[in-house]
Amino acid sequence: MTRSLWIKQPLAMHTNTCADSEGGLVIDTDQGVIREVVARGALPSTPCDAVFDARQHVVLPGLINTHHHFYQTLTRALPAALNKPLFPWLQTLYPIWASLDENMLFSATELALSELLLSGCTTAADHHYVFPDQLTQAIDIQMDAAESTGMRVTLTRGSMSLGAADGGLPPQSVVQQESQILDDSLRLIKRFHDPAVGSKRQVALAPCSPFSVTSELMSESAKLAAEYTIRLHTHLAETLDEEAFCLKRFGMRTVDYLEHVGWLSEQTWLAHGIHFNQDEIQRLGAAGTGICHCPSSNMMLASGICPVLDLEQAGAPVGLGVDGSASNDCSNLITEARQAMYLQRLKYGAEAVSHLDALRWVTQGSASLLGRQDLGVLTEGMQADLALFRLDELRFSGSHDPLAALLLCGAHRADRVMVAGKWLVEEGRLIHKDEARLRREHQQQAECLVNKL
Ligand SMILES: [Zn+2]
Repeated sequence: MTRSLWIKQPLAMHTNTCADSEGGLVIDTDQGVIREVVARGALPSTPCDAVFDARQHVVLPGLINTHHHFYQTLTRALPAALNKPLFPWLQTLYPIWASLDENMLFSATELALSELLLSGCTTAADHHYVFPDQLTQAIDIQMDAAESTGMRVTLTRGSMSLGAADGGLPPQSVVQQESQILDDSLRLIKRFHDPAVGSKRQVALAPCSPFSVTSELMSESAKLAAEYTIRLHTHLAETLDEEAFCLKRFGMRTVDYLEHVGWLSEQTWLAHGIHFNQDEIQRLGAAGTGICHCPSSNMMLASGICPVLDLEQAGAPVGLGVDGSASNDCSNLITEARQAMYLQRLKYGAEAVSHLDALRWVTQGSASLLGRQDLGVLTEGMQADLALFRLDELRFSGSHDPLAALLLCGAHRADRVMVAGKWLVEEGRLIHKDEARLRREHQQQAECLVNKL
């Protein structure tokens, strides 16, 4: 028998559609999908098995994070890396990250995902590109940790193949051979990638950045991704240092390079995407290449501001990512939507960007970056991934528009979160994990990593 749950008459709801949804949503909790959107004053078309009174809740599609480095939660606020721009910041951290091991990565993945979940995130992508000898099974470890949270993930097989000895930025200790990277990429696609509607685990390929991988690896990754219909991800146009590197090493700008290695397509989403000229923005839009805007990281490293509205207007989908967590240093996605709204206002003006834009980027926009047509919109047949927030803290008192209040007053913790029709957070707490245990184990692993140097 199908079980159904009516999320009844929410205080407010953002669906990314124009439909009247004031009566709430009916969830098919067996199938994990939305069965019906209920209009104002209406009742569900058939009686429901259970009712959740949502009069105190603002309901959003589950938030989707499209760029992160979970392992970096172990090196947050590290004194040696403070107050530096991207290249020196990376050069300080690479030797520390070279000691990363399996227990550390499991703990970091579990913690980062739990932190995201508590902020209303239901689907997350991670970009893991550090594979020292003791951690060649990094993505397998992350898949295990992700499964234990109940969330949906797109884990990218990152890579670095261009070490300092060959003109790249990272030390040799953290780069791998191209053949090893490609073999492992293929193995992971076959073992883990599930392309089905409602999938909870997907794999994408993610050579780290122009300054840490060879052109050959970029091209070969694109071929492999095309063969298996897998998405491609990398950092691009994050800083002017990177642009200078591309001009010097490849004799071309970043988007020319992207096209040269076969990546300028709708299968690709890029982290940051800051330093584009108008012609490049038009080409990215025409190709349908996605951009993940990471406002906190861009402010922290003073990298610049992503031209989000120009990109969207040109046809490039835009989503959000917390990045980090050594360049953010937190994994809170609802506060990242607030940062995006404000940073984009600084670029485009107060009238050009609203809280509704930021909510669209962090849900529907992010879903398109990951190629997920089953997520990010609350309508019949979509996956039942929801983030519910209450407005009963002091910070919301006196507010008049619940959706605007969520971002303007600074919501930071969801009261309830549902993935595939199942609650994973209730009353602001993880149902399946003990926060104190997570924090204790993760702190221990973080100290272990930093003390190894
Ligand atoms: Zn990044």
